[in-house]
Amino acid sequence: MQTFLKTDYTVRQVLEGFEWNEAEGKGLFGLNGKLTIQPEYQRNYIYSENKSEKEKAVINSLLNGYPLGLLYFNRLPDGRLEVLDGQQRITSIGRYLKRKFAYVDTDKKEWYFDALSEERRNRILDAQLLVYECVGEEDDIKAWFKTINTNGEPLNDQEINNAIFSGPFVTLAKAEFSNSNNSNIQKWSHYMTGNVKRQEYLKVALNWVSKGNISHYMMEHRFDDNINELKTYFNTVIDWVTDMFYSVEKEMRSINWGQMYERFHSMPYDKKQLNEDVRQLYSDFYVKDKRGIYEYLLDGKKNRSLLEIRLFEEPTKRAKYEEQTKIAKDKGVSNCPDCEKGHEATQTRIWKYNEMEADHVTAWSKDGSTDIKNCQMLCIHHNRLKGNK
Ligand SMILES: [Zn+2]
Repeated sequence: MQTFLKTDYTVRQVLEGFEWNEAEGKGLFGLNGKLTIQPEYQRNYIYSENKSEKEKAVINSLLNGYPLGLLYFNRLPDGRLEVLDGQQRITSIGRYLKRKFAYVDTDKKEWYFDALSEERRNRILDAQLLVYECVGEEDDIKAWFKTINTNGEPLNDQEINNAIFSGPFVTLAKAEFSNSNNSNIQKWSHYMTGNVKRQEYLKVALNWVSKGNISHYMMEHRFDDNINELKTYFNTVIDWVTDMFYSVEKEMRSINWGQMYERFHSMPYDKKQLNEDVRQLYSDFYVKDKRGIYEYLLDGKKNRSLLEIRLFEEPTKRAKYEEQTKIAKDKGVSNCPDCEKGHEATQTRIWKYNEMEADHVTAWSKDGSTDIKNCQMLCIHHNRLKGNK
């Protein structure tokens, strides 16, 4: 890979022909069409977040003659250029020239570009930009791109994957899942967390369809000219969750619905009962992990530990054990009430404290409290039997 340091580009030249695409949230071209500002492997524009703080800082630097730092352009075989690093800074300048935001001076006064004095406008337009142009093989350039991007705003995993596996598939996938104007985002946001522009919805979609093997999936589909499988799978999962659960709760956002779909979509459910159970568990003080409710119910209430039920305190269990054991010894029966009722050899067995577990007399899901009146000690065998019902 070869690099050339260029010191004679000005803002005026680089931003010549700049267009801001509101729909896609990106800056398009510079150098009068010769420079592609946001090639597909670049992240979306994020400097406008947080009330434009970052883009205002870029304009402040230009007006004060501070350096903007190095920009990196990739020179393509046909002589055209694309921005490898510096897209956020260039887009900030372009948006300012297009009146997309105002610069705020130290007196808190707002200045749009055309309100500045001619002298200050020229200070911006004549500012020189330091550019490294590089020529090389795609792989070299992408490896280098990974390195330079570890400075400044670090790329997240998905942004790096988009860079490494750039191509028609990533282009289409971003248009669907990284586009904050997509009208489905609102609905999707009920079932996932993250920032659309930082590719985090795309990451969820890829994670579901690939069963967790995102890079492998992206590599295999890199040159596909469609995203049919990705889109269909994603929508199928979303439709399934929406159809299963009538109400939307915030805990639903941190569940891997792709995994839930794989495990449970072919099972029959009484949906009315299912949703009644969800409602009941949500209002249950003893269920500490509300997120676990969905898997617990879909899985047929087998695994209580998903709910992190609030437990009896140690002194409560100890006192109950002493009480039960004393009565049992007097009567000559087992201190486990279920053993006593049974016909096994354990009918008269006195269990040690550490051989028993605390059980709710009235089930936790039916308003059972965790005070001593609702506590009974059972042998481990009988307690586990009860737990599985
Ligand atoms: Zn027992």
